[in-house]
Amino acid sequence: SHPDAWAAVDRYLAETLVGSDPALDATLASQDRAHLRPIEVAPVAGKLLHLLVRISRARRVLEIGTLAGYSAIWMARALPADGRLISIEAEPANAALARENVDAAGVGERVDIRIGRAADVLPGLADEAPFDLVFIDADKESNTVYLDWAARLSQPGAVIVVDNIGRSGEVANADTDDPQIQGVRGGLAMLGEDPRFDATGLQTVGVKGWDGLAIAVRV
Ligand code: SAM
Repeated sequence: SHPDAWAAVDRYLAETLVGSDPALDATLASQDRAHLRPIEVAPVAGKLLHLLVRISRARRVLEIGTLAGYSAIWMARALPADGRLISIEAEPANAALARENVDAAGVGERVDIRIGRAADVLPGLADEAPFDLVFIDADKESNTVYLDWAARLSQPGAVIVVDNIGRSGEVANADTDDPQIQGVRGGLAMLGEDPRFDATGLQTVGVKGWDGLAIAVRV
């Protein structure tokens, strides 16, 4: 086992099961031109989010952390015509780029990008709730805050996904002084203890290295 082999298998799976798509490719190219770090989900994970939206028959999706709209496009494409995805992004330049990308992908009508810090935007979303699926992928330090809002803004049966829970193994280091890792650990502890959630976590390897994601159902 070696990171090169993980990436090769990931590329093979993406070629075989995911395929390529001009709008998604253009989104990644725009992200690159804007000198944003390639911290979007991997293609196989974008497809997983897409499938989770379909499997759960979600009509209202909430995303925290838009970047250039890559995962938003994946999820929006799984929504019915009257479905809606609200995605929160703190950086206005990212939000503007994402707006262009979701429009170019043909899902602009279904996607509402809210600019601001998620902790400030979330309390104002009661009128758009309940959400059927929530994808948490922003500042990891705030994961417990975002999980609390995910629970408040959803009903039993809703799906909650948290990205980046593996962190090259650092997540298992209880003594870490990295505030992002502490944030991930706090979120996982909450998913384990808070009666509003029933959850599991999976490690992943691939083009993004060694990481993972947690999936929960709102109880
Ligand atoms: N979900 C995206 C995808 O897969 O294509 C990737 C999101 S990227 C990992 C995280 C994003 O969260 C960045 O664009 C960053 O600007 C944004 N962000 C960071 N802190 C935030 C906050 N407090 N509120 C809202 N967005 C935030």
